[in-house]
Amino acid sequence: MSISFKDKVAIVTGAGGGLGREYALELARRGARVVVNDLGGSRDGTGHSDMALQVVEEIEKAGGEAVSNGASVTEYDQMEKMVADAKQKWGGVHILINNAGVLRDKTFAKMEPEDFEFVVKVHLLGSAYASKACWETMREQSYGRILMTASSTGLFGNFGQANYGAAKLGLVGLAKTLQLEGAKYNIKVNSLAPVAGTRMTEDLFPEEAFKLFDPVNVVPAALYLVSEDAPSNAIVGAGAGGYHSAWVEMNEAVWLPEGERTVEGFAANWAKISEESNLHAPQSGAEQSGAILQAMQKVTGTG
Ligand code: NAD
Repeated sequence: MSISFKDKVAIVTGAGGGLGREYALELARRGARVVVNDLGGSRDGTGHSDMALQVVEEIEKAGGEAVSNGASVTEYDQMEKMVADAKQKWGGVHILINNAGVLRDKTFAKMEPEDFEFVVKVHLLGSAYASKACWETMREQSYGRILMTASSTGLFGNFGQANYGAAKLGLVGLAKTLQLEGAKYNIKVNSLAPVAGTRMTEDLFPEEAFKLFDPVNVVPAALYLVSEDAPSNAIVGAGAGGYHSAWVEMNEAVWLPEGERTVEGFAANWAKISEESNLHAPQSGAEQSGAILQAMQKVTGTG
């Protein structure tokens, strides 16, 4: 089975280096026309350069089609213009990989509010802005594939990355609602938690791990998740050559009779309430109240 992106127009944000560059190169190799977006800043988001242009040159040399875009994902009007330009040139936008990112790691005690705001702005608002800029076009086309770049930090936490973790789990929340709203328009939205040796991780990974986690190994997961037959609402982890899924799950609700609905009653039942068994991954928020009502029915036989 060969997976083609012929006749598809793809935008990859933050594609001037690291993972985004690999996604852009492979999408173009497989026939997509690619908007290579990158403002070309440093790892902490300061400065500008022509990183995107260099990737476009690489794609063109290999016989592919691409344009560079130096806009910041934090500027909604620039995202709208990026989409309008792509539509004018190629007639549509089918794929968006929200990949642009920055780091400003510090313990929460030392983190300045500006560092928190900036990191949330680039990752969460930047992805929301780029997605919003594509949304109407994808609805009109009845075709859209959006990938959010989450992170193990968002899913599971990581010391020194409160700003980044908040933004990254926020992206999963964004994906979960967009996939519901996009379903009837054939818009599929997934989240990816990559692990890769890039400039973002160069001083965090030991040298051997840096080599092992070559970003090319993330490409299969990312491209599958934006392909024609992509699933929707998946959370996938990828790195080195290992691939897995993750879920947001809940256990079965414990129904407390009226007399036990006290702080003490809750405490007495905590072991049961927090038991990691009979887990279920709801497909929408409404399933939470459904599960609670089911627990009530089981105990009271009513509802
Ligand atoms: P990277 O620093 O090489 O890539 C990020 C790119 O985003 C850079 O080229 C940067 O110039 C660009 N960028 C930053 N701010 C931008 C803005 N406002 N507008 C447009 N472009 C902007 O790092 P990477 O490791 O390739 O990271 C890619 C994505 O993967 C990021 O979202 C990152 O958080 C995520 N991620 C990476 C890892 C990893 O192990 N490398 C782990 C989890 C998540």
